[in-house]
Amino acid sequence: SPTTRVRRIVLLGARAVGKSSMITRYVDDVFDDSYFPTISRTISKLLTFRGQEYEIQIMDTAGQDEFSIFNGRYALDVHGYVLVYSVTSKQSFDMISVIRDKILNFTGTDWVPIVIVGNKTDLQSQRQVSKKEGEDLAAYWKCLSCETSAKLGNNINNIEHAFELMMVEIEKSTQAVPEE
Ligand code: GDP
Repeated sequence: SPTTRVRRIVLLGARAVGKSSMITRYVDDVFDDSYFPTISRTISKLLTFRGQEYEIQIMDTAGQDEFSIFNGRYALDVHGYVLVYSVTSKQSFDMISVIRDKILNFTGTDWVPIVIVGNKTDLQSQRQVSKKEGEDLAAYWKCLSCETSAKLGNNINNIEHAFELMMVEIEKSTQAVPEE
């Protein structure tokens, strides 16, 4: 439709935290236990948010680590950043701070729309990061956060909610900007 607005979102985080699985669950509502390392792909989905239709273009990325050179393609021309960690990995939680620093350095700003997502909540017995730690980091960064499980079925996986929070953060930042 001519009034559809495009919003570009990128998922960033350590390898194997479930970025691809989150996208597949969100777009196709399925889960696959096998692990195929992602190169990079973009998937579109239509979404109605606050009565407005959006085409959200979701960019999946290969995982980041302390040493990977931050790919500027992931930082430019993007409306919002979903920073994903696994609640079973403290290391992946620490990684999202490294990634945020890289984004802010790259964009030369001190704030960008971010949602923090702790994935794999179904693996409760392996938890290394508490819900509160995620919430405290979100409060510190003044952004939204939630926990998800790409493995669990609809209504209890919180995946849709994560993308809605991303829209909330993005629309916060674009409110003052007139649409073309
Ligand atoms: P990515 O590298 O961040 O894109 O991670 P993937 O989506 O490829 O997932 C890595 C592995 O974790 C795969 O074996 C997935 O099946 C598994 N995985 C992803 N999300 C979840 C989850 O919420 N719960 C569980 N138990 N496993 C998950």
